[in-house]
Amino acid sequence: MVPHPQPPALTRFVADMEALLATSPTEPEILHHGGQLLAQLIATADWLPDHLATPRADRYQQYLLHLDPAERFSVVSFVWGPGQSTPVHNHTVWGLVGVLRGAEEVQPFTRHPTGALIPAGPPAQMTPGMVDSVSPARGDIHAVRNALADAPSISIHVYGGNIGAIRRSVFQPDGSQKEFISGYSKPDPK
Ligand code: FE
Repeated sequence: MVPHPQPPALTRFVADMEALLATSPTEPEILHHGGQLLAQLIATADWLPDHLATPRADRYQQYLLHLDPAERFSVVSFVWGPGQSTPVHNHTVWGLVGVLRGAEEVQPFTRHPTGALIPAGPPAQMTPGMVDSVSPARGDIHAVRNALADAPSISIHVYGGNIGAIRRSVFQPDGSQKEFISGYSKPDPK
């Protein structure tokens, strides 16, 4: 366990998510109301502790902030160094992405009848306070990159499961896929 107290803003978000899930919402309801809760959480950017906001030179970091004991949802900080990006990947569960600091570019993909993956419209340019979502019901394949070439960016993600342990896929442009399990980054003990 992380030997740090949970930031009050995150504790409030988790309680609000638990209350939302207690109403047995549909996935669109989770994305709508959960998105509003996430927008509240990222309305201020100072609550995320430094050890969960630290970029690394070799690749983007994915720090676990909270895992629901029943694994109904997880909350993660994604920390991008300048120019870092994900491969094209899916999630298999619903997801919410909110930018906390910096700027990110999100490119959704859709499947062409040939099986190839093609961009589903232009990439979304996301700045602090903006929330995006993914859903297996309407497409959950995308690639994300830090839109800043000279500074880190940070986003807070919420997923409908223990995202670090979920078996999912990365994709090549021809649509071929390879399974992966992301795990979580290990914060530097400070
Ligand atoms: Fe993603």
